Amino acid sequence: MFEGYRIANTLALDSHARFGCEAQTLEDVMAAVSFAGQRDLPIYFTGEGSNLLPSKNVDACVVRMGLPGWEKTAESEQRVRLRICAGENWHQLVTLALSRNWYGLENLALIPGSVGAAPIQNIGAYGVELSDFVRSVRVLMPNLEVRDFDASSCEFGYRTSVFKKLTNHAILSVELELSKEARPVAHYPDVERWHERNHVDTPSPQTVFQAVTEIRRDKLPDPAEYPNAGSFFQNPVVSSGLAADLSRAFPELNVFVLQEETAKLSAAQLIDMAGCKSWQDGPVQCWQDQPLVLVNRGNASHEQLMEFAAAVHRAVDEQFGVSLTLEPVRIPG
Ligand SMILES: Cc1cc2nc3c(=O)[nH]c(=O)nc-3n(C[C@H](O)[C@H](O)[C@H](O)COP(=O)(O)OP(=O)(O)OC[C@H]3O[C@@H](n4cnc5c(N)ncnc54)[C@H](O)[C@@H]3O)c2cc1C
Repeated sequence: MFEGYRIANTLALDSHARFGCEAQTLEDVMAAVSFAGQRDLPIYFTGEGSNLLPSKNVDACVVRMGLPGWEKTAESEQRVRLRICAGENWHQLVTLALSRNWYGLENLALIPGSVGAAPIQNIGAYGVELSDFVRSVRVLMPNLEVRDFDASSCEFGYRTSVFKKLTNHAILSVELELSKEARPVAHYPDVERWHERNHVDTPSPQTVFQAVTEIRRDKLPDPAEYPNAGSFFQNPVVSSGLAADLSRAFPELNVFVLQEETAKLSAAQLIDMAGCKSWQDGPVQCWQDQPLVLVNRGNASHEQLMEFAAAVHRAVDEQFGVSLTLEPVRIPG
């Protein structure tokens, strides 16, 4: 365990925890839990820091989950099940699966981060979510018991799961079931347009992978060059009544009707229409091609980012009466 442990984060925020370490094994994680328990300190488990908003000084124990490896747990002619440890990189898993002709994850290519973090907010992109493939999630409980959550007990929803509500739980591995039959999901508008532009009449998992990687590289800033945490706000889910009112007042608004009398709006469009797209305040800026992404162009502090986010939140609320929710996870001081 190290003192003054730097918390890695793709927003390039200067942040240190009182104690921290990288865990490579279950025993490392258990030792860290005991260490924090003996000192009565909160404990946080992190992955690659691509969805984190850590404070400057975190009075806690931070454990970066680096557990490596994967194995096949079952296989039939049509399907394969894999158990992947938390520390594996998500995009490398997507690439590996495609290279073995195990299909389904193509639309989730290039999402930064680790496998262990993927179930927390049920990562999703281009019409596909992690929950479409999860069989179970293995967790170290606060009492040091290892428990498997089956898919239904994960309570997956849009950018959420039961793991968002639980504290002091370390995700050790994730079991996914993939298909050996190609069933590409290419209906998402950007992905469809890519296929049209490239004269591909019959999409395949490989073309969807290529489409998604090219679209993401075009649209999103690379955190290595422009530090960011991806979407800073979730797409708001509102009542169908409010969505109908907004559609009447703003006919150009994109409204995706969901079940149970709700509808999803595009946070990027709301931010754009509220006039925040060109905003910059000191080192913090909305990314021009995707205003949902806030970029740290210098040495922004946690507070500067939060103030900027609060101003965007206010502008959208004032114009549309819609309250945006932060997507990255805050680690308090
Ligand atoms: C450029 C960019 C694009 C992005 N695009 C998308 C996208 O399209 N779709 C999408 O859904 N997300 C997207 N994200 C967000 C991010 O990639 C995901 O949330 C990812 O799963 C975070 O992984 P991580 O390992 O970096 O987790 P971290 O940022 O380190 O942690 C995120 C949260 O998970 C917890 N956590 C991490 N690992 C564990 C573990 N093993 N056990 C218990 N808790 C853990 C942390 O405490 C924290 O609460 C994007 C981010 C960036 C920077």
